[in-house]
Amino acid sequence: MMILSLKKKCSALLLALVALTGVSDAASSHPVVLDIGHQSTSRGAGAPDGSVNEYEFWSMYAGEVKAAIEEAGYSCVIVNRGNAPTKIAIAEACEAAGVVQLNRPDRGAKRYPSTHYPEHIGCGMVSADYAIDLAARCVVFLHLNSVGNSWSTTPPRGLIICNRRHGNALAESVCEAMRRDILDRPGGMPNAGKGISVLPRYIGSQPSAGWMNALDEAGIPAIVFEAVYVNNRGHVTFIRNDTNARKLARTIGTGVVNWLENQD
Ligand SMILES: [Zn+2]
Repeated sequence: MMILSLKKKCSALLLALVALTGVSDAASSHPVVLDIGHQSTSRGAGAPDGSVNEYEFWSMYAGEVKAAIEEAGYSCVIVNRGNAPTKIAIAEACEAAGVVQLNRPDRGAKRYPSTHYPEHIGCGMVSADYAIDLAARCVVFLHLNSVGNSWSTTPPRGLIICNRRHGNALAESVCEAMRRDILDRPGGMPNAGKGISVLPRYIGSQPSAGWMNALDEAGIPAIVFEAVYVNNRGHVTFIRNDTNARKLARTIGTGVVNWLENQD
């Protein structure tokens, strides 16, 4: 009897909390998943002077994307498929942001088949499977782009890659937020008027895109953020400033939130 009555009290408390916060079960049980695209053992593209690399940048700032999403009332999980960081500043940032460390890094050409759709193989698959396990609302793979190892003064057009069937609207929403708040805007990032566009990746067209394809099969919108070039001086100068980096991360979060609000 005691147990029953305690259960009833707990349910009532939960209902009251939901009513109070306005957070629905659907919003909290299907999180947005953010993936730190690279790993401690393979840090992705870096600036020619070594000042920035993809893995460390997003380990430091993925928490800011998450904060923008959570503050709008949606749940969010950050995942990294690589090994846990040992560098103190990175480890502290990841701990503060609640990064889920899967400790299954891609090593060189080693790529995993999806546990859900084994016909799809690709780097990033461990994170894609994790998102499918959680029935994620969507997945954002956080990367920085590069076109070579030497400095350039004019960046190419920014890209948001998306999975073909489900990712387009999400990608467009993040593009829109970037145009409004970051690219060639006052206080934003100089972008030589190059703009930003969506690039869908088709199933079967690129073996390395198997992770995006698996998410498409599961009906989960997925995008890859590739709109900042670490070999471009203007871009690197912008993102090395902490305030700017947070603004960039928040803008990605806003793009995701705007898309979520159109789904509800
Ligand atoms: Zn990358």
